[in-house]
Amino acid sequence: MARFIFITGGVVSSLGKGLMAASLAALLQARGYRVRIRKFDPYLNVDPGTMSPYQHGEVYVTDDGAETDLDLGHYERFTGVASRQSDNITSGRIYQQIITRERRGDYLGATVQVIPHVTDAIKEFAQAETDDLDFVLCEIGGTVGDIESLPFIEAIRQLRNDLGRGNSVSIHVTLVPYIAAAGELKTKPTQHSVRELAALGVQPDVLVCRCEQPLPESERAKIALFCNVPKTAVIPALDAKSIYAVPVQYHHEGLDDAVLNAFGILPGSAPDLSRWTDIMDRLTNPEGEVTIGVVGKYVGLQDAYKSLNEALVHGGIANKVKVNVEWIDAELFEGPDSDIAARLEPMHAILVPGAFGERGAEGKIASVRFAREREIPYFGICFGMQMACVEGARDLAGIADASSTEFGPTDEPVVGMITEWMTAEGVQKREAGGDLGGTMRLGAYAAKLDGNSVVSTIYGDTDISERHRHRYEVNTAYREVLEKGGLVFSGMSPDGMLPEIVERPDHPWFVGVQFHPELKSKPFDPHPLFASFVAAAVKQSRLV
Ligand code: GLN
Repeated sequence: MARFIFITGGVVSSLGKGLMAASLAALLQARGYRVRIRKFDPYLNVDPGTMSPYQHGEVYVTDDGAETDLDLGHYERFTGVASRQSDNITSGRIYQQIITRERRGDYLGATVQVIPHVTDAIKEFAQAETDDLDFVLCEIGGTVGDIESLPFIEAIRQLRNDLGRGNSVSIHVTLVPYIAAAGELKTKPTQHSVRELAALGVQPDVLVCRCEQPLPESERAKIALFCNVPKTAVIPALDAKSIYAVPVQYHHEGLDDAVLNAFGILPGSAPDLSRWTDIMDRLTNPEGEVTIGVVGKYVGLQDAYKSLNEALVHGGIANKVKVNVEWIDAELFEGPDSDIAARLEPMHAILVPGAFGERGAEGKIASVRFAREREIPYFGICFGMQMACVEGARDLAGIADASSTEFGPTDEPVVGMITEWMTAEGVQKREAGGDLGGTMRLGAYAAKLDGNSVVSTIYGDTDISERHRHRYEVNTAYREVLEKGGLVFSGMSPDGMLPEIVERPDHPWFVGVQFHPELKSKPFDPHPLFASFVAAAVKQSRLV
């Protein structure tokens, strides 16, 4: 039977609970344990798919097509374990299920209540498909004391009882603020937060204390005393210089030992952390650096491009270089006083990432043109591939009105909405004017690459599978004219209907992909497209 680790946060949000969960899972994995991490989100959206990236950061897509919290991206990047729909639940999804059952009459006349119906659903979710695991880590979103997280904390309380003593551990992540005027770290917020959690019936076993200054032994002892945990279970967590330094740092602070001790497991020999020390070695001793311009829309908030940012870092790890990312607002390149040359000339490579809606599209098309004409490496992801096709149609095939139906009706739909496509489960259909939630081509789809293409060399394969999240597709009716203009369709869906990859063989590096390769990149296994793109940027940096 799997053991459970429940992770809650206190005092303030944004303490890096997700990263903590991912790092702990990586440490347990490095000791040979089988792990899976799950995220419980207390908000009422059914999933984050319809939430603005400004509100919630990136939507992370799993192989099985779930639109999930970005923390699941951390989980995958740190453990290599592919997340699934069943690893992310929201209050909204739970209520949706319960209300559907209630309408069907499944509750046989009973009054449907938070306890036991909602809490039972949470417990079921936590325990589903866990037989082949040693540890299941469950991260509860939000902060203890929030009204909406109460049913989750209550479910944990019950589950800890159901599982029996010794089969679960509660970790509480808190803040120990530094008050500069007093020159002191303050433990009181942590004491209050633990008291709040304990009042809900959950006594934490391990405390992870985020702090900006080293936590003196005296303060560690004080927290242990007031919060009812052993001193060795009070883990100081200072800011790390890279997120990939966190697993080793937590290990040195004794996190994995404290957790195993709390389970009554003798920690045994030290975990093998060479994977993480190698990564940090490459990150801290780069042999060069490159600057990549990302021309996007949500550039004010980097969480909106979390996986992309990480995949670029991984490309740097693969090439032993530091990757500087310049986030550039595409709208700067629209209108008469666009300073595109001044902004993009210093870039060693240009990337246009995924996006929704027309705003900034012209600026992105101008960036594609700039990269193509100046022979600067170009990587177009999803929307970035679509705009590369529009640019090719307008500038090389003479189709001045080339556009995407995403921007409204057009006579030249180089990019258009597909309402029918094939999946392993059969034909999928969408209504053009249907719901926005959960109606995209989502999740892993296979693609066939042309054996003579640049991308098949990059992948070292002609059969790939990548994750999708989009409504529109490049229209194969334009394939011939686009290919005449040098934009080759080098990857297609297995039935040959949907373009998956386009490339310009006559350009130093020009690739557009309909999927999101950044979702599958890992620091210890950089995605081949990102490794190759950063290598092209390194080449470019030697030219300028
Ligand atoms: N908006 C485009 C579509 O829906 C691209 C989406 C994306 O870049 N993820 O097809």
